[in-house]
Amino acid sequence: MKSQRSDYVVVGTGLAGLTFALKAAEHGSVTVLTKATITDSNTNWAQGGIAAAVGESDSWELHEADTLTAGAGLCDQEAVRFLVQNAPEAIEFLRQQGARFDLTGSNDLDLGREGGHSRHRIVHHADKTGWEIERAVSQSVQAHPNIQIYENCYATQLLIQDGRCVGVQAEVNDLGSRQFLGRATMIATGGCGKVYANTTNPRVATGDGIALAAAAGIEIRHMEFQQFHPTTLSHPQHKGFLITEALRGAGATLRNHMGRRFMFDYDERLELAPRDIVARSIEREITRLDTWCVYLDATHLDAKALEHEFPTIWQRLRELGIEIEKEWIPVVPAQHYNCGGIVTDLLGRTELPGLYASGEVTCTGVHGANRLASNSLLEAIVFSVSAAETVPEEPALPENLSLAPSTPRCAVENEAIRIRHALQKVMSHHAGIFRTDAGLREALERIGQLESEYEKAPTGGFSAYSAEARNLLVVARLIITEAQARRENVGLHFNADLS
Ligand SMILES: Cc1cc2nc3c(=O)[nH]c(=O)nc-3n(C[C@H](O)[C@H](O)[C@H](O)COP(=O)(O)OP(=O)(O)OC[C@H]3O[C@@H](n4cnc5c(N)ncnc54)[C@H](O)[C@@H]3O)c2cc1C
Repeated sequence: MKSQRSDYVVVGTGLAGLTFALKAAEHGSVTVLTKATITDSNTNWAQGGIAAAVGESDSWELHEADTLTAGAGLCDQEAVRFLVQNAPEAIEFLRQQGARFDLTGSNDLDLGREGGHSRHRIVHHADKTGWEIERAVSQSVQAHPNIQIYENCYATQLLIQDGRCVGVQAEVNDLGSRQFLGRATMIATGGCGKVYANTTNPRVATGDGIALAAAAGIEIRHMEFQQFHPTTLSHPQHKGFLITEALRGAGATLRNHMGRRFMFDYDERLELAPRDIVARSIEREITRLDTWCVYLDATHLDAKALEHEFPTIWQRLRELGIEIEKEWIPVVPAQHYNCGGIVTDLLGRTELPGLYASGEVTCTGVHGANRLASNSLLEAIVFSVSAAETVPEEPALPENLSLAPSTPRCAVENEAIRIRHALQKVMSHHAGIFRTDAGLREALERIGQLESEYEKAPTGGFSAYSAEARNLLVVARLIITEAQARRENVGLHFNADLS
């Protein structure tokens, strides 16, 4: 099998992978692998913005306190402090790459406010902050002479020799299997929303990095904490499209099909209660009334302001025939963010020497049992920067490596499709916002059946879609087993048998 060497290997081109690549390229050559195109990522879809205590009445202490409150006692305090203290620098880094953020009339950053934040501190670019960030940072990466990018390149396995990670094996479109070797390897493969039927995540979010780490026996934690966004569009043509919290922040209200503003029945903070509470309230209302969805009502808000502040939502809903200044938006909760993942320290190091991880694929300890809105883009930058500053200390790769090539076994695609759908069904049913002991047991049993069906299925050639199915099974098992082990209702984990 062909192999190629660079100083550093990065898997993933969301904000975590791109930031690491740019910073590590100051110290050596970098190879970046990504399984679709460079901008296919969760990052590209982020709407609200990125949190940083840069406002006059704000401080890192307040940002820290808000993050710890959201995390419900399960955050790592040191990691949170590291995150919030480095936030202003992270914003500066993005501006240096050419990211444009909304400004006030006096040219200061125009800071938004989201649920759980005690101050205005969300730096944003209208409602398409992720697109703007991904645009700016990916252009810097593409222009960098020390960085080589492989698109349509799917990482299938960590390469490990003498207890060190020395790179990854990948399937490259048109080129076949290749080994990419480096003194440090960064896993930045993002989230795993596709384990559920309804998610805000794009198609690349299949938990591949978590499965790669699990196969190597690396510690993974907090997978039971899956964040569900309360308000995503309920429409057959655009499932999972996010209707940002900022719309509720601007005054939009939640109503059931009879027009009742039902949050009065659930929480005194009404529509701006924390995400997990709003999501649970919506689920309860939908179950109680036996309906498909509830509605977000923005009809009393100024139409011009809506169009200006929420251009993406305004435009997308118009394409679907919904005029938000005149009619209610049908919404349901959907999986949105994975708070758990590969355990790392403040420098992005995993327990396997030579292997680093950053972004949504990790458990750095900053989110605890519930992520504070807009802290995830921030986390991706802060931990990638510290990892990039650390990797030059890694020893050089030995001249002679003897790595046995291995070919990933992929079930034929039609079986993989069936298995993925069955898995999404069982996870949505039993491992969503509400869980029970019996439901978790049933889910684990079904996952076991699906795993064995995958193994027994006829094989085809390499198929990324099929490899993702196997990874989703690994992720699902981790979510269920950690949910079973968590014997208290905390943050995002809610088991009706424990209440
Ligand atoms: C709709 C939406 C709105 C959001 N809004 C916000 C917000 O306002 N503020 C905020 O802070 N967060 C927000 N988030 C969360 C945030 O966008 C993500 O947590 C963050 O962008 C993750 O960045 P990342 O670099 O870790 O992963 P990603 O951006 O998902 O990038 C992962 C990369 O890894 C690649 N990859 C995956 N598997 C493989 C493989 N096997 N081989 C090769 N490449 C692979 C993918 O193709 C992709 O390029 C939002 C998320 C969504 C979906």
